[in-house]
Amino acid sequence: MNYSYVSHLYCPKCSKKYEADVVQNLCDCGSPLLVEYDLDSLKKDWKKSDLNGRENNLWRYHELLPVKDKKNVVSMGEGMTPLIEMQAIGNDMEIENLYMKDEGIIPTGTFKARGAAVGISKAKELGVKELAMPTNGNAGASWSLFAARAGISSTIVMPIDAPKITRNECAVSGANLYLVNGLISDAGKIVGEAVKEHGLYDVSTLKEPYRIEGKKTMGLEIVEQFNWEIPDVILYPTGGGVGLIGIYKALKELQALGWIDEEKMPRLVAVQSEGCAPIVKAWEKGKKESEFWNESETIAFGINVPKALGDFLVLNAVYETNGCAVSISDEAVLEEQKLLSQKEGTFVCPEGAAAFYAARQLRKNGWITEEEKVVVLNTGAGIKYPNTVEVDVQVLEKNESIQPANDRTAKKL
Ligand SMILES: *Cc1c(COP(=O)(O)O)cnc(C)c1O
Ligand SMILES: [Zn+2]
Repeated sequence: MNYSYVSHLYCPKCSKKYEADVVQNLCDCGSPLLVEYDLDSLKKDWKKSDLNGRENNLWRYHELLPVKDKKNVVSMGEGMTPLIEMQAIGNDMEIENLYMKDEGIIPTGTFKARGAAVGISKAKELGVKELAMPTNGNAGASWSLFAARAGISSTIVMPIDAPKITRNECAVSGANLYLVNGLISDAGKIVGEAVKEHGLYDVSTLKEPYRIEGKKTMGLEIVEQFNWEIPDVILYPTGGGVGLIGIYKALKELQALGWIDEEKMPRLVAVQSEGCAPIVKAWEKGKKESEFWNESETIAFGINVPKALGDFLVLNAVYETNGCAVSISDEAVLEEQKLLSQKEGTFVCPEGAAAFYAARQLRKNGWITEEEKVVVLNTGAGIKYPNTVEVDVQVLEKNESIQPANDRTAKKL
C-alpha cells in the first residue's frame, strides 16, 4: 500500500491534466486545479477498519491526501476536532439534532491549520524554499507558523484592519510580514507582483491545489464521527469557499470508495455576511459565477472576500446538493455569539456565529425541518477576536463587597 494514492491534478473548468510531482499553481485557463486520486486502486486496498487505531488527527486519512512520503508530513496534531451536540441552542432554534464541528481548538485557533498542514507538507515535498500569500489574517497565521516548522520562509501581506492577533502570530513566526492599507484583494495584487518578480511560491487561496485537500478532511471527519452516516445539512461560513469545496470533494471521494451512501448528500449552505455576500447574490440569481463585491465590510473578517477564485466551485457544490446561500448581518452575528456562550459555554468566532444564525433563520422559514441532523462549522476560536465583545465591568476598591450572580434574598434562611 502507498502512503498516498494521489494520481494527478486536473482543471475543473477545461479538464486539462497536470503532474502532481512538480510545483503547480493555476491552470493555463486561469482556473484553480484540483487533486485526483487513484480511487479505483484505493477502493480495493483501503477499508474503513484500516482507520482503527490510527492517530487521531487528519493524517489518519493519508491515502486520500497528496503527501507521498510520510517523512514530509509537517504536523502539530491538527484535525479530528470534536463534533459536539448543541442541545440548549438547538432547543432554542427548534432543531432537535444540532451539532457543532468545533475548529476553535485546532493549532493556531482556526481551521486554516488544516489547509496549512497539508499545503506546507506538500510544499516541503516539492522542495519549496519560500512562499508568499495575501491573507485576511488567519491563513497567514497558520501558514507562516507551519512554514516555520517546515523550515520554509514566508512573505505575508494582510490588511491593516485584520485581527491584531494574527499579525502577531505571523510576526512571531519570523515571517516577512507587511500590512496594506486596503483589502485582501489589494494584498493579492501586491503579492502577485512579488511572485512574478522574485519567483516565490504563490499560496494564495486556491492558487495552489493542496489547501483544499487539507480542508476536505473536515468532511471526512464529520461522516466518520457520524459512523459514516450523512447529515442532512452542513452550514459553512464562506469566504474563499475552500472548506465548502473541500467538504463536497471529500464526500464525492467517499462515495467513489463506496464508504457512504451513493445517493445522499448533505445540503450545503454557504453563509456570508450582509456586508460581503457575492456568493449569495450569485446564488439568488441562479448564476454560475459571482461578481466582485464593492466596499465589502464585516466583523467576520475571515469571510470578507469580495471575489473568490473558486466561486464557480462553491456555487456548483451548493446547486448540486440542493443547498442554499444566505447572508447575515453583523448585529445578528454578535447576538448569536453571545447566546452561544451563555447557553452552551462555547465562545465561537464571528464566522461560526454567522453560520449558527443562518441555521436559526433557515429553521424559521422552514428550509430546515425540526428533526433534521444539522452540522454547523465553527471555523475558529472566539478568543482570536477579543474586540468583538464589548465589556463593561465594575472595578472594585480593595475593601468593597460584591453581590452573587443570583438574587438570594428571597431564599435567605
Ligand atoms: C478563512 C476563514 C473562513 C472562510 O474560509 P474559506 O475556506 O475561505 O471560505 C471562515 N472562518 C474563519 C474563522 C476563517 O479564518
Ligand atoms: Zn483549465
